[in-house]
Amino acid sequence: MREKITGRCLCGATTFSVSSAPRFGIRCFCTDCQHVSGGASAPQVGFERSHLDISGPLLIHERKSASGSDLAFGYCRDCGSPLTKSTTRAADLIFVYAGALDDASVVPELKPVFEDSRPVWDKG
Ligand SMILES: [Zn+2]
Ligand SMILES: [Zn+2]
Repeated sequence: MREKITGRCLCGATTFSVSSAPRFGIRCFCTDCQHVSGGASAPQVGFERSHLDISGPLLIHERKSASGSDLAFGYCRDCGSPLTKSTTRAADLIFVYAGALDDASVVPELKPVFEDSRPVWDKG
């Protein structure tokens, strides 16, 4: 059996583990991801949702996406780090922000998406 993939928030109060390998990875330039991350894009890794175990004070923020699906963002309630994102568009998946993972080498190649909304200050 393979080792579990683990990660945590900045303060360490919220931790998670996943029992299966990532399905895929994206670097999302949509405006929601810019607001969540404070950066130009949010690197995130999609896992089988039922294989993710979270412990600690996770705060869920729900929101409609521009395309009408329901999004749920998970943050550490204590330090505010963004950790997870899920969408009704892909209900069997959970996205974990790549920077929250303990081992960077588990992150697959990240495919850029929504590059049309990439901010001008991130170019060049
Ligand atoms: Zn925290
Ligand atoms: Zn996005």
